[in-house]
Amino acid sequence: MSAPQETSSEHERLKDALSRPLHDLRISLLDRCNFRCPYCMPASEYHADYEFLTRAQRLSHDEIYTVARVAATLGVSKLRLTGGEPLLDKALPKLVDRLAVLPGIDDLALTTNAMLLAPVAQTLANAGLHRVTISLDSLDEQVFRTMSGGRGNLQQVLDGIAAAEKAGLTPIKINVVVQRGINDHTVLDLLEHFRGTGHIVRLIEFMDVGNRNGWRMEQVVPSLDLLDAVNETWPVSPLGRNYDGEVASRYRYDDGKGEIGFISSVTKPFCGSCSRARLSADGTLYTCLFATHGTDLREPLRNGADDDELADILKRIWLQRADRYSELRRPDVAAAHPLSKVEMYRIGG
Ligand code: SAM
Ligand code: SF4
Ligand code: SF4
Repeated sequence: MSAPQETSSEHERLKDALSRPLHDLRISLLDRCNFRCPYCMPASEYHADYEFLTRAQRLSHDEIYTVARVAATLGVSKLRLTGGEPLLDKALPKLVDRLAVLPGIDDLALTTNAMLLAPVAQTLANAGLHRVTISLDSLDEQVFRTMSGGRGNLQQVLDGIAAAEKAGLTPIKINVVVQRGINDHTVLDLLEHFRGTGHIVRLIEFMDVGNRNGWRMEQVVPSLDLLDAVNETWPVSPLGRNYDGEVASRYRYDDGKGEIGFISSVTKPFCGSCSRARLSADGTLYTCLFATHGTDLREPLRNGADDDELADILKRIWLQRADRYSELRRPDVAAAHPLSKVEMYRIGG
């Protein structure tokens, strides 16, 4: 296979229709999960008979590696492995080992619910994983149970966080999806727990991803309300962005106890700087979290497309990209007439 010849000036030219560069590739390894978070994979929909992708339908690690390698030649420098639950893939360390040394990749991260993290954190770090983002919605046992669909074990998740810290998979980000009336009353306790640990908690507005999570605007707690509550308890000051395309608004605690982030996709969209492409487990490339369709890469991959052909497909997709769902979202319309959007567990968070 021939390697595509790209120069940095060509990268600079690869901008989408709204002048946004391609920097991040999020790779969903599989659509299965050991949790049933109601805001993502409600158990009523994802029951025992639900047909998840078969192994043959999923991209192999070789195929994932090929897409990542070609994407890196087009300017992608950040890779995130996600799912479904990526730690259900037992061969993950081997994939990490290969992705970590790809030329052009300077950030390799994993998003996980951390239930299965403790035993493999050191192996993943040794393989070259840089850092982890851990989803943890509450430290209240009962609320955590509800938000994991009755499947999570809080102590196991906390052990996973401790193991990731020990293995140096830092800075650790803790993602909290906030739902009004479900876990919003436990947010300050969770922040208290992680203040001073170096872990960065990010409070995420409940999003209308997919069509199966019963999203309603009333359940969204606007980041500004959370910021007010935090500020009243522990005064905070805004921090600048770490890099272009960063989605969280960052604040630091004035008492020096660390950093907190707010991800306000609903009330303060950040489409203008969105530089992310998403590869689903079946090899479909999506250019927006709220996409209704994507481009199949699995067929060309399995039909022997070489790197140049694959690069041409990726370029074509990116050059045409004009997505800005969150900027155009009308909550009343989103709830009443949902589009047929891809589900979060398929596209990866
Ligand atoms: N299973 C892994 C985990 O939960 O970390 C990785 C996949 S999960 C789809 C990635 C992220 O998406 C998680 O942090 C999760 O909380 C977030 N997420 C899922 N559904 C969401 C929704 N409706 N609104 C906001 N965030 C959501
Ligand atoms: Fe699974 Fe993550 Fe979705 Fe929860 S958010 S159901 S852990 S994929
Ligand atoms: Fe990016 Fe789509 Fe989210 Fe806008 S709505 S920030 S384009 S993923």
